[in-house]
Amino acid sequence: MFGFECQECHKGVVRAQQRADIPFKVDGIPFNVPEGTVGVCDNCGAEVLSAKECKRWRALFEQMQQQSDRLLCPEDIMGLKAQLGYTTTQLAGLIGATRQSVTQWMNASRVAPQSRMADVLLRLVRECLATDSVEVLPFLTSLARDNGIDLPAPARSRLHMLGRSASPGRAAYDRAFQGRPPSDGTRPSLRVVPQGASDTAA
Ligand SMILES: [Zn+2]
Repeated sequence: MFGFECQECHKGVVRAQQRADIPFKVDGIPFNVPEGTVGVCDNCGAEVLSAKECKRWRALFEQMQQQSDRLLCPEDIMGLKAQLGYTTTQLAGLIGATRQSVTQWMNASRVAPQSRMADVLLRLVRECLATDSVEVLPFLTSLARDNGIDLPAPARSRLHMLGRSASPGRAAYDRAFQGRPPSDGTRPSLRVVPQGASDTAA
């Protein structure tokens, strides 16, 4: 798999290195890979990730997402459907999904859970039912934060809110964004090598 010439410096050789607790991101969501193989150049230290290993990490991530409460579980979605008094088709229509997808998300032994995008939309609907009025941007940024994605206060919303300083929206906005630590941006990024490239070079 490895043992090919480094594409960064063209001097060193990329060699396999076993690592534990590797910081990685899938669709912007950070998670740590318990154990994995990374290619490291013995000259410049550039790191590459094979497409196969990347796929394995993604699968691992999906599995971890399923086991965590980061995605609404099938019961949550069935509960939401019942709360709305909707059929599966109607719930699908509400959020722009297909009936087949929603059916799959509600399957207790599902293999294809909803994407984070669909999950965000479902949570937004749930929040609307629970609280009547939702400050959408603070709600979305707070959900992102729960997923380890640190977002700054949206600039456009800030201007809008400043004009309505006494509004409850302003209070929600302040609660959501005050005292936020800046994004540290320290997570290393790994370059993914297309499967074919590393196979032929090896
Ligand atoms: Zn190199």
